[in-house]
Amino acid sequence: MVTVNQDYLNLKGSYLFSTIAKKIAVYQANHPEAKMIRMGIGDVTQPLVPAVVAALHKAVDEQANKDTFHGYAPDLGYTFLREKIVEHDYEARGAHVELDEVFISDGAKGDVANIQELFGRDNKVAVGDPVYPVYVDSNVMSGRTGTYDAKTEIWSDLTYLSATSENNFTPSLPTSHVDLIYLCYPNNPTGTTLTKEALKEWVDYANKEEAIIIYDSAYEAFITDSAIPRSIYEIEGARTCAIEVRSFSKTAGFTGLRLGYTVVPKELIREGVALHSLWARRHSTKFNGAPYVVSRAGEAVYSNEGKKQIREQIAYYLRNAKMIREDLIKAGYDVFGGTNAPYVWVKTPAGMTSWEFFDFLLEKKQIIVTPGSGFGPSGEGYVRFSAFGEYESVQDAMQRITQ
Ligand code: PLP
Repeated sequence: MVTVNQDYLNLKGSYLFSTIAKKIAVYQANHPEAKMIRMGIGDVTQPLVPAVVAALHKAVDEQANKDTFHGYAPDLGYTFLREKIVEHDYEARGAHVELDEVFISDGAKGDVANIQELFGRDNKVAVGDPVYPVYVDSNVMSGRTGTYDAKTEIWSDLTYLSATSENNFTPSLPTSHVDLIYLCYPNNPTGTTLTKEALKEWVDYANKEEAIIIYDSAYEAFITDSAIPRSIYEIEGARTCAIEVRSFSKTAGFTGLRLGYTVVPKELIREGVALHSLWARRHSTKFNGAPYVVSRAGEAVYSNEGKKQIREQIAYYLRNAKMIREDLIKAGYDVFGGTNAPYVWVKTPAGMTSWEFFDFLLEKKQIIVTPGSGFGPSGEGYVRFSAFGEYESVQDAMQRITQ
């Protein structure tokens, strides 16, 4: 009889989003007239910008013609897209990344979940806390997390890098050695960022400990403060200790199109092995390339028109975030994030847990947020507001809260 992968049995069910869905369903069944405002989800709401749509149409027409048809993409992804990435995302920021260090994918989630395959099973893993759950679950699937304490919701072999208002959302370096470190900035869920100085401490730590940082900058496009690093490669020493994962999802509304990339510098050598070669092998074995049509759409993101239109779209979401921040501050809440990120992280009123505040907002205001405790132990006592909604519904939500 076939046996199953026992590590998968250790996965915790998607307790957070299924519990939210159940609570909403119960509330709606009892209050069918209620007009709910959803501020929990992290999906975008605005359509693709015109420059991207034009590139898609053109690429579709090319696929309809024998002379311009494209089949499988090259192993690393199309050069026209990787050139734009190197030029605009790195060279323009004074960061060095080479063309063949960029691996195009169908989004950041797969990359950030799969990257741990390059590392031994006995590596010690550290995650920011609160955390994007994929980092934890992908390591659970690979048996790297030890045993689970249901009471504390902590995995015994994981190091949780706590980020709360007490440390200004800047986690301290681990007190005992870790090998793989997941950092996400601008952060999901807290919407906070890390300064160059703070990020440099992590780079120095990783180089000293011969650890690797997996740097998820899926939300870098929301950074408006030029002093905040958009890429870890803006930090000296990062090329010998960091892999960076990026996405077009939140940058350009590609959540439904699917496009992302991972940078693995060739200087990343551990146990005499170039991680670049391992990822290249993995990529060509397990992935058959991002679609030509979508890659052309990605290229259009970097055109002058595309850049301008996307800046306007990001500004739309940031205007929502600003309104959420300012109105909640006026209403007396402690509010974090939301200035260089599409998420606003809000402390629950004294004495309320994340779920109690969630229930309060659902039942009294018909507003749906995400309870912070669902993102890890340090998320308790907070909720996440997403700024990805329509401006008018955000406005409506804020009126309900401030009235
Ligand atoms: N990384 C973070 C921190 C995210 O929040 C998300 C999506 O919400 C992703 C990665 C996934 O991005 P993609 O849509 O490119 O798979």
